[in-house]
Amino acid sequence: MKKNQGYSRRQWLKHVGQTTAASAVLLSVPSYARPASAQVVVVGGGFGGATAARYIKRRDPSIHVRLIEPAKTFYTCPFSNLYLGGLRRFEQQANSYDDLRAQGIEIIHDIATAVDPDKKTVQLAQGASLTYDKLLLSPGVDMRWHALEGYDEAAAELAPHAWKAGAQTQLLKKQLDAMPDGGTFILVAPENPFRCPPGPYERVSMVAHYFSQHKPKSKILILDAKDAFSKQALFQDAWQHIYGDMIEWVPMSQGGRVIRVDAKQRLVETEFGDQHQADVLNVIPPQQAAQIAHQSGVADQSLWVPIDPTTFASQHVPDVYVVGDATIASPMPKSGFAANTQAKVAAAAIVNALSGQAPAEPSFTNTCYSLIAPDYGISVGHLYAVNNNQLVEASGGVSPRDADADFRRREAQYGAAWYEAISLDIWGTEPHA
Ligand code: FAD
Repeated sequence: MKKNQGYSRRQWLKHVGQTTAASAVLLSVPSYARPASAQVVVVGGGFGGATAARYIKRRDPSIHVRLIEPAKTFYTCPFSNLYLGGLRRFEQQANSYDDLRAQGIEIIHDIATAVDPDKKTVQLAQGASLTYDKLLLSPGVDMRWHALEGYDEAAAELAPHAWKAGAQTQLLKKQLDAMPDGGTFILVAPENPFRCPPGPYERVSMVAHYFSQHKPKSKILILDAKDAFSKQALFQDAWQHIYGDMIEWVPMSQGGRVIRVDAKQRLVETEFGDQHQADVLNVIPPQQAAQIAHQSGVADQSLWVPIDPTTFASQHVPDVYVVGDATIASPMPKSGFAANTQAKVAAAAIVNALSGQAPAEPSFTNTCYSLIAPDYGISVGHLYAVNNNQLVEASGGVSPRDADADFRRREAQYGAAWYEAISLDIWGTEPHA
């Protein structure tokens, strides 16, 4: 036959043999098995979505997995504070989708604009409509523009949030580089819940490191909408020990909550009526689940997404699973590691559901490392389980307060190793030179 030209007899026999073996397997499939090619659509190619796509395909290569993500390169928030501290280049934050594509996942660079749960379709901005058997959303967070008076998208171009890695992070770095020695950096920290609870405090640590090297007369002011924060004692001990009185933290009860922002003047006003003038102003506003979570009906009035903790299936919309920052998964924090571990549980549950099997009993893990100086790391880590249909902390804690310098140096190294391991696990990214 013409179409077999170039096929050796040996290849042909091999092909026929494989086909026959496959047919034999198909003939023996029990009647409750799902059709050969189930369709799974994943929205969001960040920590949760890229993990889910990879692990669904790995568990069952016959499933057609499509990953929708507008960005061709994903820049991670984790370790972006180290870039601000002058310890990394921005390109070291980059991940491509080539390895996921090589696993047989169809990558579609587009934006999901609407989900129709009745027809089980996802509408894309460029016009296509995708059908799914199961849909997984990991769209992350949106900033709540106007939650602080005067802070909207235009204001963020003057006073960046830098809470999604990319142009915003580079803008903040540029402003820090241009700031004169003796200037004041103000960070406005949000109320709970928000993406990465220790993130603002790691950020000021890294900015303090940069200042101590290049602008030692400068000051850092944290205006906080909370009275307590993650790993607080460890951060505050280290700030005092390493940076002296460079960093000042103002909690909510002492007038830390900012209610108004004048981005042009780099001026903020607190609920106590105090005004503070910055040379560089970093406003991290309150947040909510990203837009598609609201459009698709999975988010509730809390502005976040309630899930079934055993599978991370939506409580409101059938056949839709949601992982990562968009969810209500307390006591798990909104972290990249949490999104990664939730995505593995959801991936297993989806593959099981597609073949008519019950979900397995899940367990989750999370460790958040924070770097305070190049050789000074701290961490918080927990295992989580499901008890009475609730997520609970099974074990864990923060690193000891009285640890010596060698312990802190090793925590810094573990943090770096964690970042390399998770980038490889999710995007197949080898450590950047
Ligand atoms: P994301 O990773 O943000 O991914 C969401 C993706 O969905 C995005 O790529 C977006 O483009 C896409 N998307 C959104 N809407 C749509 C749509 N409609 N259609 C198609 N695509 C869409 N976590 C840690 O574990 N360790 C750390 O050290 C750490 N450090 C951090 C430091 C900082 C400064 C910050 C800000 C965060 C840090 N985090 C850390 C938290 C971590 O970045 C997030 O928790 C993690 O990214 C959440 O994963 P996700 O999948 O929910 O969202």
